[in-house]
Amino acid sequence: MIVKNLEQVEERIGSACRRAGRSADEVLLVAVSKTKPVSLLQEAYDAGIRDFGENKVQELCDKYEQLPGDIRWHMIGHLQRNKVKYVVGKAVLIHSVDSLRLAEEISRESVKKDVDTDILLEVNCAGEESKFGVRPDQVPELAEQVAKLPRIHVRGLMTVAPFSETPQENRKYFRLLRQLAVDIRRKNVDNVSMGVLSMGMTNDFETAVEEGSTCVRVGTGIFGARMLSDLE
Ligand SMILES: *Cc1c(COP(=O)(O)O)cnc(C)c1O
Repeated sequence: MIVKNLEQVEERIGSACRRAGRSADEVLLVAVSKTKPVSLLQEAYDAGIRDFGENKVQELCDKYEQLPGDIRWHMIGHLQRNKVKYVVGKAVLIHSVDSLRLAEEISRESVKKDVDTDILLEVNCAGEESKFGVRPDQVPELAEQVAKLPRIHVRGLMTVAPFSETPQENRKYFRLLRQLAVDIRRKNVDNVSMGVLSMGMTNDFETAVEEGSTCVRVGTGIFGARMLSDLE
């Protein structure tokens, strides 16, 4: 089942790229495996997937121990400062940095462990109360502040768009994220690059790719629905 789902998702990413005049290798597919057992992750791994996304620190660490060492783990969920020490050195990219204090903790821990940590700034594009992320107008300043910290590197932006009936409704948020990245890139801040735009999930990844996503985070479309009781 997973192999077939993966083929379909990859095919749809490919079509969206063609529509947008982009090359399919510009878009990284992160398989969001939260709540799913390691046997299913292994199945995706055997089908060639190396990038997995988790939203809970404990779960990421447990799976990290049990699965092959060449997996690239993406921390995509809200991160508390007291858990930073568990993910630094394990996650290849932390997508969900939304405050200077969190970035400072990641920096401190990276110095301590003598590693470099790549991060994205999470943006709450739609201004939803229930969502994490910084307001769009606060992103440039946060990027400049994080840039000054040692051993932490801003690689781009991430957003979780609202749940919507039709993906078209989220197009404006994807455009907003891309425009923010363009504006920040123009400032040429040392230690800030905007190469990664992490946007698009099962319901809207094609629209996100059309609008410039370089990293789609797809869970349900690969692994099937999560149990309601598994949701946050
Ligand atoms: C769960 C989750 C996803 C994947 O959601 P699907 O709709 O299952 O594809 C992507 N990004 C984040 C931050 C998530 O928490």
